[in-house]
Parts: sequence; C-alpha cells; structure tokens
Amino acid sequence: TEHTLSIIKPDATKRNLTGKINAKFEDAGLRIVAQKRIQLTKAQAGEFYKVHAERPFYDELCEFMASGPVVVQVLEGDGAIAKNREVMGATNPADADAGTIRAEFSESVGENSVHGSDAPETAREEIAYFFSGLEIV
Ligand code: ATP
Ligand code: MG
Repeated sequence: TEHTLSIIKPDATKRNLTGKINAKFEDAGLRIVAQKRIQLTKAQAGEFYKVHAERPFYDELCEFMASGPVVVQVLEGDGAIAKNREVMGATNPADADAGTIRAEFSESVGENSVHGSDAPETAREEIAYFFSGLEIV
C-alpha cells in the first residue's frame, strides 16, 4: 500500500465541494487516513510549491492557495499516487477526462480544485510538511 498527499484547494472549499471530492477518492478505493481543514499563509503556500518558484504563475498560485481554506489529507491505497492523479484528471480541466474531479468541478488551470503528489519522494516530503506520523491513522 502507498500514501499520497492531497489538497482540496480554495476554489473547491469555497463552493462547498469537499464531500463530493472525497466521495470520488473513496469510490476509487482510496482511504482518507488523515485530514484537516486549514488556512495557509502566502508564505506557507510558497514553501509548499517552491519547486514552481521559477514558473510565471508562481505568485498567482501562492495567492490563490492562501485565498481561503484548504483541506489537506493523506490518501492510502495500492498505487495511491498514480490512482489519485487519475481521479484528479489533467492539470487543465479542459483536457481532463470525463468523470475526473477536474473535469466535473474545476473552472480553470489555475483554480483546479485539487493537488496530488507526483512521486514517492515528493509524497513523503509533502505529507511530512502537514502531518506527524501520529496523525495518520
Ligand atoms: P498539482 O501539483 O497542484 O497537483 P499538477 O501536478 O497537475 O497539479 P503542476 O504542473 O505541478 O500541475 O502545477 C501546479 C499547480 O500550478 C497546478 O495545479 C495549477 O494550480 C497551477 N498551474 C499550473 N500551470 C498553470 C498555468 N499555466 N497557469 C496558472 N496556474 C497553473
Ligand atoms: Mg504537481
């Protein structure tokens, strides 16, 4: 089994979609083994997304991630990292397959409702950024 870090982004929490998004994860066989709703500062969002620091959308991305509450969560399952990214759909909702979270709920490439870790090493780092081992049950 594998763990991945998921974030339900502010565009989705503002539209009250947390439950509908969690249902997509659970229907795909992913188990929510840690979860909390928090408000990030812009600095915390910037630290989390620092790999994108040189990208032209970095400042906009950090502003957005600090613009309202997020739900951070650890998802568990066989191949959880890849499975979660499948359920999320493509980064740009216009390219996302039907039935994916981004196809159903997201309004733009910037405000695309969910984040998911992209590899085992980043999953470990991202989980540790938000959770202690004792919080993952
Ligand atoms: P995430 O890392 O959030 O799971 P991703 O792995 O699908 O998404 P990345 O390439 O890692 O996509 O980009 C990180 C985030 O930056 C995207 O989810 C999106 O919110 C934002 N982003 C990516 N490309 C653009 C863009 N062209 N314009 C605005 N924002 C963008
Ligand atoms: Mg990414």
